[in-house]
Amino acid sequence: MHRCEALVIHCIDFRLRKALTAYLAPRFFEGYDLISVAGSVQALNSEGVERDFLLKQLQISSRLHSPKTILLIQHEDCGAYGGSRAFSSPEEERAAQRAELDKAETLLMKSFPQAIEKYFIPLSGKVISF
Ligand SMILES: [Zn+2]
Repeated sequence: MHRCEALVIHCIDFRLRKALTAYLAPRFFEGYDLISVAGSVQALNSEGVERDFLLKQLQISSRLHSPKTILLIQHEDCGAYGGSRAFSSPEEERAAQRAELDKAETLLMKSFPQAIEKYFIPLSGKVISF
């Protein structure tokens, strides 16, 4: 039996890589399961085949690796949401992304027993926990 500490869901955006590695690698030294899709939790929050696909990936990770924690990570200037210009201010963008994370958390809590952590990453790289 092999178990991992966490399952991480984040966007494909390459600009996040350094911040994500700096935050995740020391914390989950033994590694973690990763689902990386454009827009991160956006697909979970929209009904359809993308949500079904992601939920299946989450179920597989849970069944095979029993992750203790699920980390949901959104980021600034995400192209899946139209980038930062789709929001009137950085505060509005952050609030909207927080709402997206809260919505996805509510969905996952119905089916997954793991603790859920929510994060937002500004392009400056400093990871913010919600
Ligand atoms: Zn993105």
